[in-house]
Amino acid sequence: MATRRSFRTLVAGRLALDFANLAPSEHDLSWDEFVSFLVDARLVSQDRASRLRPLLSSEPHAVDAVLLRILRLRECLRAIFGAIVNEKPFPASWVDPVNEILRITEGHDELVAHNGAWSLQYVARESGLDWLLAAIARSAAELLVEGPRAPIRRCANPACRLFFYDNSRTHHRRWCSMAVCGNRHKVASFLKRKRK
Ligand SMILES: [Zn+2]
Repeated sequence: MATRRSFRTLVAGRLALDFANLAPSEHDLSWDEFVSFLVDARLVSQDRASRLRPLLSSEPHAVDAVLLRILRLRECLRAIFGAIVNEKPFPASWVDPVNEILRITEGHDELVAHNGAWSLQYVARESGLDWLLAAIARSAAELLVEGPRAPIRRCANPACRLFFYDNSRTHHRRWCSMAVCGNRHKVASFLKRKRK
């Protein structure tokens, strides 16, 4: 099987934030990229993904419809999280795309064991393609319910600006990832010192 380009390791710590970080420009998210994201986020298996990808040619209208929803959800989440980071209020209508998905996706909660602790995980009923967005919409809803206290931040690297959830002890995490932006910054300031 051909290896597909994997997204930059998901660094945000919350599904909805990783989704908001997906692809930098507005209209370039392809079906293939979205399916790869679902695999990286462990929302679907590789096996499932290999059955989802061909839908682009076998069911183009269904895929188009869900892609539109995907883009709409992503744009609205970016706007909302951007407002939260800047501590700005935002109109209630911005959450409409989230509620729309919550409304149409049926599902149930399931107990899942992880590192010796139990957590509740939402399992969407697989009907149509909208179920693919169910977990993302729920993750977004959970963040919004956390309110302005939710430690949502943006990477301090101006060329990056990825959203992430700061669950560090001090709540002063600056970088989406120390390995990428943090180290780049360290090297840059080291070189600056050397030049003086
Ligand atoms: Zn970054």
